Amino acid sequence: MRKERPRTRLVVLADLLGITVKAGHVSRGGQVTKEFFREVAQAVGVPGELAGIRDKVGLCQLICNYTAIPFDERTMTARGARVTNRWFDAILARFDSFRAVVVQEGADLPNSQLGRAGLAGHLRTEREPPAGPDLGIDAACYCCGDSPGVRLGHPVLEAHCTMAYLKSVSRLPSAKEFVAVCPSCHKILHLRGIQAMEFRRELRP
Ligand SMILES: [Zn+2]
Ligand SMILES: [Zn+2]
Repeated sequence: MRKERPRTRLVVLADLLGITVKAGHVSRGGQVTKEFFREVAQAVGVPGELAGIRDKVGLCQLICNYTAIPFDERTMTARGARVTNRWFDAILARFDSFRAVVVQEGADLPNSQLGRAGLAGHLRTEREPPAGPDLGIDAACYCCGDSPGVRLGHPVLEAHCTMAYLKSVSRLPSAKEFVAVCPSCHKILHLRGIQAMEFRRELRP
């Protein structure tokens, strides 16, 4: 059997989820340890009491459940409770679609309070927002109060998720947790990693 080398993937996944790679994350034999999977589970929102009782394979299954990935024990695990590259690839692919956006938007943002993982989760929630705020041509931006659609003759407001950024990864927000913002304000919210209400107070005290 080909020897699995999950280390590169471990580093990429850790980076994506804001996990600091520690010596204890890889065993002497080169295997990713339960300790690492615990941190991944935590990052994707698996409740601690659930994550605490699982073995390594069980943890990987839980992580799949929480990220809507079908868990295939046959290909994702191997003898000796090893987790294969298949599992890592499935998880990475799940996050990959918005990674490009994250890197692009987060590239030169020294002031952002928002980690990459936080922004990634946030953007995921906004990809397919539930029918929530009015994004019509006359609607006003929650933050600045402007109605650019009227001026531009086209509806341009976007739905911004108001859920705390770090929680965005772990659960789907409800329709009530979205506000309509103009593209400029939306950009700034993501760049600075601040909450819409906070920014609104700054603009319109
Ligand atoms: Zn605005
Ligand atoms: Zn947003």
